[in-house]
Amino acid sequence: MAKPILFSVDDDSDVLRAIERDLRSQYGAEYRVIGSDSPESGLDILKHLKVRNDSVALLLADQRMPRMTGVEFLQKGMQIFPDAKRALLTAYADTGAAITAINEANINYFFMKPWDPPAELLYPQLDDLLDDWRASYRPAFEGIRVLGTRWSPRSYELRDFLARNHVPYQWVDVELSAHDPETKRLLEVLGPEAANLPIVLFPDGTKLLESVPADVAQKVGLRTRAQTDFYDLAIIGGGPAGLAAAVYGASEGLHTVMIEREAPGGQAGMSSRIENYLGFPTGLSGGDLARRAVVQAQRFGVEILSPQEAVNVRTEGSYRIIKLADGSEVSCHALLVATGVQWRRLDAPGIDKLQGAGVYYGGGATEALSCKGEIIYVVGGANSAGQAAMNFAKYADKVVILVRGDGLSATMSQYLIDQIQRTPNIQIWSHASVAEVHGESRLQEISVLCSDTNKVERVRATSIFIFIGALPRTDWLAGLVERDDRGFILTGPDLIRDGQRPKGWAPDRDPFLLETNVPGVFAVGDVRHGSVKRVASGVGEGSVAVQFIHQYLSKV
Ligand SMILES: Cc1cc2nc3c(=O)[nH]c(=O)nc-3n(C[C@H](O)[C@H](O)[C@H](O)COP(=O)(O)OP(=O)(O)OC[C@H]3O[C@@H](n4cnc5c(N)ncnc54)[C@H](O)[C@@H]3O)c2cc1C
Repeated sequence: MAKPILFSVDDDSDVLRAIERDLRSQYGAEYRVIGSDSPESGLDILKHLKVRNDSVALLLADQRMPRMTGVEFLQKGMQIFPDAKRALLTAYADTGAAITAINEANINYFFMKPWDPPAELLYPQLDDLLDDWRASYRPAFEGIRVLGTRWSPRSYELRDFLARNHVPYQWVDVELSAHDPETKRLLEVLGPEAANLPIVLFPDGTKLLESVPADVAQKVGLRTRAQTDFYDLAIIGGGPAGLAAAVYGASEGLHTVMIEREAPGGQAGMSSRIENYLGFPTGLSGGDLARRAVVQAQRFGVEILSPQEAVNVRTEGSYRIIKLADGSEVSCHALLVATGVQWRRLDAPGIDKLQGAGVYYGGGATEALSCKGEIIYVVGGANSAGQAAMNFAKYADKVVILVRGDGLSATMSQYLIDQIQRTPNIQIWSHASVAEVHGESRLQEISVLCSDTNKVERVRATSIFIFIGALPRTDWLAGLVERDDRGFILTGPDLIRDGQRPKGWAPDRDPFLLETNVPGVFAVGDVRHGSVKRVASGVGEGSVAVQFIHQYLSKV
């Protein structure tokens, strides 16, 4: 934990050195001692300390300084650190001014120069001041702080990114906490820069204005560039299938890289509670599963590039070459595609404009806490919608699940239906679909089409969370691997038609079970045609694929 600061300012560098020396020798174990020989730069340093979220316990200023008196400095410093104790260093001739300052300018104490011996003339009084300060001191948050507004899509994207990458941060909603004095002070210190939301403040005092995930990723040490340009195995997609392949591949000696566009964990990472994964009788959150898997993969030496997107794949002889979104390339002998599926977009007027500003696809884990006391809508009738409703019900006043059919039994697992029925603040609105969403800069109302009455009802809504099925996004692989008409990748026996191997297939064998029509390119998990869309099956396919990859590599 960073030590609180004792800050002194004196234009006479000899006096400054002396006071710093005495402060350090008595209080150095518990406090950091910082000084400045000019009040102007002293104020700049205080502003910097504010951005870093440091705590200042004491402001000590010489009364006689050119351009700014000690009293003026302390008053300005007090606007930045109002809780810091304030003391003046004065010459005998300034005693009168110092007493007036105590009476009229909120100064706590004054010390006469010289303060020799400090054991009598400095420390006892400072001890009192610092004891007093400590009594109400609450250590400040020391990690990353994100300043933004709840209804800004960019703030949402950033928070979602940090949460899914397990980067701890403190969220400061500058609108919601506009009357909080500490937020006001921080915004004042930032000055005109405060308009460039979202802002990320780092504990080292640096800041990113109008920040985007890629910039923050670099700053927090997430790796987006490969260390070498060739790997035995490259995996595209860091969901359960990709992570499993990474763990098995690397643990069996393959030099492995995994490329993930958003955050390791994939769809599973968005699940608030996975209850059917073997070995976790009380369930576990997708975030927890992802975090454990990432640690496991890293322990075996897997290189994880995230956030980083694969945009193209080509083959050159036995090399499979992946082009990444930043223009760099990674080559490998075996390539595994585990890119899963992405949420289907809801087609309703007004929806695109409000995405991230009340309209969310998927779990919206970062939003759950903000829904306290609100009525929220979950669209969809499958397990993912049910899990989300159960999670939101912990925070929201009421959760309404909109389903097209006449209930959940055809689409949701019975265990979830039972949980929902036992949760009094979840309501199921059947025969209902979203016809339109309304709002300028944030969602305000939704129009719901009721198919049983053929009427449209318009209701107030601050947030809707959409879970209406998912499709693979594999267009970038078109022309390389064979896909079905919905974009799922064909593998193994699905490629054999009328006993014929796929067109252009060269090896003297059929494609392996999880291999595509390009030898050495494999596909696993939700993106694969005919796969079972479950965490366990993705994990199973990812680990099994490694066996085929070994067989393939033994002949390359
Ligand atoms: C909310 C929710 C709850 C669920 N609950 C359960 C449950 O309780 N039990 C259960 O068994 N299943 C559950 N599922 C289903 C399960 O999560 C999926 O079946 C599983 O995650 C599929 O794993 P995957 O690795 O194949 O794909 P995904 O999990 O979809 O991961 C694919 C990854 O690839 C990345 N990617 C995509 N394209 C690229 C690219 N071009 N470059 C780089 N990276 C890319 C994506 O960002 C993503 O991280 C749930 C799903 C959701 C959405």
